[in-house]
Amino acid sequence: MKTRVLGIEGTAWNLSAAVVDNDDVISEVTETYQPETGGIHPREAAQHHAKYASTVIQQLLEDIKNKGIDPKNLDAIAFSQGPGLGPCLRTVATAARMLSLTLDIPIIGVNHCIAHIEVGKWKTPAKDPVVLYVSGANSQVLAYRKGKYRVFGETLDVGIGNALDKFARSAGLPHPGGPRIEGHAKRSINYIPLPYIVKGMDFSFSGLTTAAKDALKFASMEDVCYSFQETAFAMMVEVTERALAHTGKNEVLLAGGVGANMRLREMLDIMCDERGASFYVPEKRFMGDNGAMIAYLGLLMYKSDSIAGIENSHVNSNFRPDAVDVTWI
Ligand code: AMP
Ligand code: MG
Repeated sequence: MKTRVLGIEGTAWNLSAAVVDNDDVISEVTETYQPETGGIHPREAAQHHAKYASTVIQQLLEDIKNKGIDPKNLDAIAFSQGPGLGPCLRTVATAARMLSLTLDIPIIGVNHCIAHIEVGKWKTPAKDPVVLYVSGANSQVLAYRKGKYRVFGETLDVGIGNALDKFARSAGLPHPGGPRIEGHAKRSINYIPLPYIVKGMDFSFSGLTTAAKDALKFASMEDVCYSFQETAFAMMVEVTERALAHTGKNEVLLAGGVGANMRLREMLDIMCDERGASFYVPEKRFMGDNGAMIAYLGLLMYKSDSIAGIENSHVNSNFRPDAVDVTWI
């Protein structure tokens, strides 16, 4: 018998629900919040998720029924328990609890960061990688060791995606800024020195963002975007390389929305090549926030009996990946 789990993601900008089995994604329905101006507004994003939650879930259930699966036969309902924006997390958790009670199916709260990692391992040949997880709010270098995903290095302030988006906004570029910056950066090879901040195994981006804003007063958009990327990405590649050396692992997996960036991939690829390590990137649909990754981690947890129950389904906006006991490896 196949295990089938429904998962709901909604930590920030993307409301997405999916059903997966051991082998693949059976169905996924997504409804994206796009701010009219500025960046993500937590309350507006939560209102967006509340408005669309029932249609997204209904569409998903219709779709699996058409594929011959009775929703009552799903094995578990998984949802993003954190980290994320509080109002968004609460909205999605409420929808997941209702679904769990209505269908009488166990509920599983999952860690969003670990979901990014596990979907990457599922959809690439990576087995035991050092992971560079780069998203809007999070930037971490992680690897599995003795029952947990340990954080070897991380941002001391904002995530790289938020740093890119913030700089882009101040430069008059629309949200999300990451892809726009990549577009401008491609048209320059003129490096302007910007603050390169690595402390031990951690890195920091807010000084870089401020300096890049100032640099726009005397340098072109192309040159500043190029220099921002070169600086920030080199910082993270350096820490990823040291994590490889420390753990003795020989694979790197890139996860999170910023992983769409081709220059970041190129830099990681060169570093891995020089060290004789393999470098893996999943398909783009599994890089940014998506329902399939939540469903898949829910499936791994369900199969290893990590089911906490509805009384433990409270959300945690600062939920750290190294707080989770990994029962499925
Ligand atoms: P996530 O939170 O994992 O869904 O990732 C969202 C973040 O990815 C946003 O901050 C985007 O600006 C960023 N992003 C998306 N595409 C790119 C890209 N091509 N280059 C850099 N950042 C990107
Ligand atoms: Mg994410």
